[in-house]
Amino acid sequence: MIKGVNHIGVAVRSLQERVPLYRALGLEVAAGEEVPSEMVRVAFFSAGGTRIELLEPTAPDSPIAKFIAARGEGLHHICLEVDDIRATMAELAGQGFRLVSEEPKPGAQGSQVCFIHPKSAGGVLIELCQGGE
Ligand code: ZN
Repeated sequence: MIKGVNHIGVAVRSLQERVPLYRALGLEVAAGEEVPSEMVRVAFFSAGGTRIELLEPTAPDSPIAKFIAARGEGLHHICLEVDDIRATMAELAGQGFRLVSEEPKPGAQGSQVCFIHPKSAGGVLIELCQGGE
């Protein structure tokens, strides 16, 4: 059911400021876009078999803005790619995981996404995604 780690999400104050840092590490930007449902602008870097997603808030009440205000920039979430997000959500909810939304939401690159609350996942914010680029 889990196909792999689709990407690792990193919260940043400014893409303009941080993209050069990841380029200096030898990574190339593969894609970038704004995701209105999450109030973020993102940049994806290819990193071997997975990707790194930098997330910059586009509004002060964006979840990423709140995260940065509370904890500073840094690792934000792990995204697991699944075959069938609705079936996975139902199964995980049945096991007692707390899902942040009851329905999948539109994510980056045409994907459908849902987050598992870190309080029910050992302190790690886990994103599930299906489809997309
Ligand atoms: Zn993500």
